[in-house]
Amino acid sequence: MPGPYREQELANISEELNQLSIRRQQINDRRNVLGLLIEFRQNTGRNEQQYSQLNSEMQELDKELEVLSERKIQLLAEQERLRRTTRLIDTSVSSGVIFVETPPSFPAPQVILDVQLLPRNPAQTQCPFCRQFVTTEVTTTTGSVAYLVCLISIVFGCVAGCCLIPFCVDAFRDVVHKCPKCRSKIHTCKKL
Ligand SMILES: [Zn+2]
Repeated sequence: MPGPYREQELANISEELNQLSIRRQQINDRRNVLGLLIEFRQNTGRNEQQYSQLNSEMQELDKELEVLSERKIQLLAEQERLRRTTRLIDTSVSSGVIFVETPPSFPAPQVILDVQLLPRNPAQTQCPFCRQFVTTEVTTTTGSVAYLVCLISIVFGCVAGCCLIPFCVDAFRDVVHKCPKCRSKIHTCKKL
Protein backbone atom coordinates (compact mmCIF):
# COMPACT_ATOMS: atom_id res chain seq x y z
CA MET A 1 0.00 0.00 0.00
CA PRO A 2 1.51 3.39 -0.92
CA GLY A 3 2.52 5.53 2.03
CA PRO A 4 0.49 8.69 1.31
CA TYR A 5 -2.62 6.63 0.71
CA ARG A 6 -2.24 4.93 4.06
CA GLU A 7 -1.66 8.25 5.80
CA GLN A 8 -4.89 9.46 4.23
CA GLU A 9 -6.72 6.36 5.36
CA LEU A 10 -5.45 6.75 8.91
CA ALA A 11 -6.59 10.37 8.87
CA ASN A 12 -10.01 9.28 7.60
CA ILE A 13 -10.30 6.73 10.35
CA SER A 14 -9.45 9.14 13.12
CA GLU A 15 -11.89 11.64 11.62
CA GLU A 16 -14.63 9.01 11.62
CA LEU A 17 -13.76 7.99 15.18
CA ASN A 18 -14.09 11.63 16.13
CA GLN A 19 -17.53 11.93 14.49
CA LEU A 20 -18.51 8.67 16.11
CA SER A 21 -17.72 9.82 19.60
CA ILE A 22 -19.60 13.08 19.01
CA ARG A 23 -22.64 11.11 17.81
CA ARG A 24 -22.40 8.80 20.82
CA GLN A 25 -22.36 11.79 23.10
CA GLN A 26 -25.46 13.19 21.36
CA ILE A 27 -27.26 9.87 21.68
CA ASN A 28 -26.35 9.54 25.34
CA ASP A 29 -27.61 13.07 26.03
CA ARG A 30 -30.90 12.32 24.23
CA ARG A 31 -31.25 9.03 26.10
CA ASN A 32 -30.88 10.83 29.40
CA VAL A 33 -33.66 13.24 28.48
CA LEU A 34 -35.85 10.39 27.20
CA GLY A 35 -35.23 8.42 30.37
CA LEU A 36 -36.51 11.33 32.44
CA LEU A 37 -39.57 11.79 30.19
CA ILE A 38 -40.41 8.08 30.32
CA GLU A 39 -40.08 8.04 34.07
CA PHE A 40 -42.35 11.08 34.25
CA ARG A 41 -44.98 9.41 32.02
CA GLN A 42 -44.81 6.24 34.07
CA ASN A 43 -45.39 8.18 37.26
CA THR A 44 -48.32 10.15 35.91
CA GLY A 45 -49.70 7.16 34.01
CA ARG A 46 -51.29 9.34 31.35
CA ASN A 47 -50.95 9.59 27.59
CA GLU A 48 -50.19 5.99 26.58
CA GLN A 49 -49.45 6.92 22.97
CA GLN A 50 -46.72 9.40 23.83
CA TYR A 51 -45.25 6.90 26.26
CA SER A 52 -44.88 4.22 23.58
CA GLN A 53 -43.40 6.79 21.19
CA LEU A 54 -40.79 7.68 23.74
CA ASN A 55 -40.08 4.02 24.32
CA SER A 56 -39.61 3.25 20.64
CA GLU A 57 -37.32 6.24 20.24
CA MET A 58 -35.31 4.93 23.15
CA GLN A 59 -35.03 1.53 21.48
CA GLU A 60 -33.88 3.13 18.22
CA LEU A 61 -31.22 5.06 20.05
CA ASP A 62 -30.07 1.88 21.77
CA LYS A 63 -29.84 0.17 18.40
CA GLU A 64 -27.83 3.04 16.93
CA LEU A 65 -25.52 3.00 19.92
CA GLU A 66 -24.90 -0.69 19.35
CA VAL A 67 -24.11 -0.10 15.66
CA LEU A 68 -21.78 2.73 16.59
CA SER A 69 -19.99 0.53 19.12
CA GLU A 70 -19.45 -2.17 16.51
CA ARG A 71 -18.21 0.39 13.99
CA LYS A 72 -15.86 1.81 16.60
CA ILE A 73 -14.35 -1.62 17.25
CA GLN A 74 -13.95 -2.13 13.49
CA LEU A 75 -12.29 1.26 13.04
CA LEU A 76 -9.90 0.70 15.93
CA ALA A 77 -8.91 -2.68 14.52
CA GLU A 78 -8.38 -1.16 11.07
CA GLN A 79 -6.34 1.66 12.56
CA GLU A 80 -4.19 -0.84 14.44
CA ARG A 81 -3.70 -2.92 11.32
CA LEU A 82 -2.66 0.11 9.23
CA ARG A 83 -0.22 1.26 11.86
CA ARG A 84 1.37 -2.14 12.06
CA THR A 85 1.71 -2.65 8.33
CA THR A 86 5.36 -2.35 7.56
CA ARG A 87 6.33 -0.40 4.50
CA LEU A 88 7.95 -3.36 2.84
CA ILE A 89 6.18 -2.80 -0.43
CA ASP A 90 5.86 0.77 -1.54
CA THR A 91 4.45 1.65 -4.91
CA SER A 92 5.39 4.84 -6.63
CA VAL A 93 2.23 6.68 -7.59
CA SER A 94 3.69 8.88 -10.30
CA SER A 95 5.48 6.33 -12.48
CA GLY A 96 3.54 3.21 -11.64
CA VAL A 97 6.82 1.41 -10.98
CA ILE A 98 6.76 -0.91 -8.03
CA PHE A 99 9.63 -0.47 -5.63
CA VAL A 100 10.26 -3.19 -3.16
CA GLU A 101 12.22 -1.90 -0.21
CA THR A 102 14.95 -4.34 0.61
CA PRO A 103 15.42 -5.13 4.27
CA PRO A 104 18.47 -3.40 5.75
CA SER A 105 21.66 -5.32 5.07
CA PHE A 106 23.16 -4.61 8.48
CA PRO A 107 21.76 -6.55 11.45
CA ALA A 108 19.27 -4.69 13.60
CA PRO A 109 20.96 -3.19 16.67
CA GLN A 110 20.78 -5.61 19.53
CA VAL A 111 19.12 -4.55 22.74
CA ILE A 112 21.21 -5.67 25.68
CA LEU A 113 18.93 -6.25 28.62
CA ASP A 114 21.61 -7.34 31.08
CA VAL A 115 23.46 -4.11 31.88
CA GLN A 116 26.43 -6.13 33.12
CA LEU A 117 27.03 -7.17 29.51
CA LEU A 118 27.14 -3.65 28.08
CA PRO A 119 30.14 -3.14 25.77
CA ARG A 120 32.59 -0.24 25.96
CA ASN A 121 30.69 1.74 23.33
CA PRO A 122 27.12 3.15 23.27
CA ALA A 123 24.58 0.34 23.20
CA GLN A 124 20.83 -0.15 23.26
CA THR A 125 19.43 -1.25 26.57
CA GLN A 126 16.48 -0.82 28.88
CA CYS A 127 17.27 1.75 31.53
CA PRO A 128 16.76 0.01 34.91
CA PHE A 129 15.69 3.32 36.45
CA CYS A 130 13.16 4.80 34.03
CA ARG A 131 12.40 1.51 32.19
CA GLN A 132 12.78 3.19 28.80
CA PHE A 133 14.61 1.66 25.87
CA VAL A 134 17.55 3.92 25.21
CA THR A 135 20.92 4.08 23.53
CA THR A 136 23.37 4.76 26.33
CA GLU A 137 25.71 7.72 26.43
CA VAL A 138 29.22 6.75 27.34
CA THR A 139 31.86 8.74 29.16
CA THR A 140 35.17 7.56 30.49
CA THR A 141 36.55 7.93 33.98
CA THR A 142 39.88 7.16 35.45
CA GLY A 143 39.77 3.61 36.76
CA SER A 144 42.11 1.51 38.81
CA VAL A 145 43.89 0.21 35.70
CA ALA A 146 45.12 3.69 34.80
CA TYR A 147 46.61 4.08 38.29
CA LEU A 148 48.16 0.63 38.04
CA VAL A 149 49.78 1.30 34.66
CA CYS A 150 50.98 4.65 35.97
CA LEU A 151 52.54 2.93 38.98
CA ILE A 152 54.22 0.33 36.78
CA SER A 153 55.69 3.04 34.54
CA ILE A 154 57.11 4.77 37.60
CA VAL A 155 58.61 1.50 38.86
CA PHE A 156 60.27 0.98 35.50
CA GLY A 157 61.88 4.39 35.71
CA CYS A 158 59.51 6.41 33.64
CA VAL A 159 60.47 10.08 33.58
CA ALA A 160 59.22 13.41 32.33
CA GLY A 161 55.61 12.71 33.23
CA CYS A 162 54.94 9.95 30.72
CA CYS A 163 53.58 7.91 33.62
CA LEU A 164 50.54 10.21 33.29
CA ILE A 165 49.79 8.96 29.80
CA PRO A 166 47.58 6.08 31.08
CA PHE A 167 45.16 8.68 32.43
CA CYS A 168 44.60 9.96 28.90
CA VAL A 169 44.39 6.67 27.02
CA ASP A 170 40.79 5.53 26.73
CA ALA A 171 41.79 1.87 26.70
CA PHE A 172 42.98 2.19 30.31
CA ARG A 173 39.95 4.11 31.47
CA ASP A 174 36.59 2.87 32.77
CA VAL A 175 33.54 3.41 30.60
CA VAL A 176 30.38 4.78 32.22
CA HIS A 177 27.03 4.15 30.52
CA LYS A 178 24.42 6.81 31.22
CA CYS A 179 20.72 6.96 30.39
CA PRO A 180 20.09 9.89 28.00
CA LYS A 181 16.52 10.22 29.30
CA CYS A 182 16.83 10.22 33.08
CA ARG A 183 20.59 10.82 33.30
CA SER A 184 21.07 7.86 35.65
CA LYS A 185 24.32 5.95 35.69
CA ILE A 186 23.35 2.56 34.27
CA HIS A 187 26.63 0.68 34.38
CA THR A 188 30.37 1.16 34.62
CA CYS A 189 32.55 -1.11 32.50
CA LYS A 190 35.65 -1.51 34.59
CA LYS A 191 38.93 -2.61 33.09
CA LEU A 192 39.56 -4.64 36.21
ZN1 LIG B 1 16.65 6.14 32.41
